[in-house]
Amino acid sequence: MESAWPVTYSIDSSDHLTQVNEAFTAFADDNEGGTLSPDQVVGRLLWDFLTDETTKSLYRDMVQRVRRRSMPVRFKFRCDAPDLKRLLAMEIDRGEGDTVQFTITSVLEERVLSAARSAIRMSESGALLTICGWCKRVPLASGEWGEIEEAVDELGLFHSGSTLQLSHGMCPMCYDAVMGMIDDPEVGASGTVTLGGLGAT
Ligand SMILES: [Zn+2]
Repeated sequence: MESAWPVTYSIDSSDHLTQVNEAFTAFADDNEGGTLSPDQVVGRLLWDFLTDETTKSLYRDMVQRVRRRSMPVRFKFRCDAPDLKRLLAMEIDRGEGDTVQFTITSVLEERVLSAARSAIRMSESGALLTICGWCKRVPLASGEWGEIEEAVDELGLFHSGSTLQLSHGMCPMCYDAVMGMIDDPEVGASGTVTLGGLGAT
């Protein structure tokens, strides 16, 4: 399903979701495979939707900073669908009182033509790989982090027809970049931070 952009959602002063738009529902369907209707989401704590502890803690810090400074945080991040590499832009801004509004727009989409990627089946078993939830990169044998196709090549998964088990985490580059936005409000508001580029970005 194609999402309509932008995706928007808001939280109250205690971080509970007060509003999500229709695009949010399509977006959640795209990425998790399940169906989330606005009714099932509104009233719930935003943090319940984030599983990785580091990611949760950094989002909390960003939201706290937005409230305290009344300056937005803007950054680009990767959020891929099975047949699509996608670069999205996030804006976190303060609303009335201590409410906070999140707006996600699509910057760039790239259809995935790689046979290796489409041959990978994610499963409960198979080679375990940590994927960064912000840039979608995975660790390579060299110690660098790269696109998932590179790791699949290294592991020979494409040829063996094996499956991959992904655990969500955060790479050191994204951690440093997000910490940089939290530490320096000017950097956070500038919109110059991109976590995992796509194409020429
Ligand atoms: Zn990363």
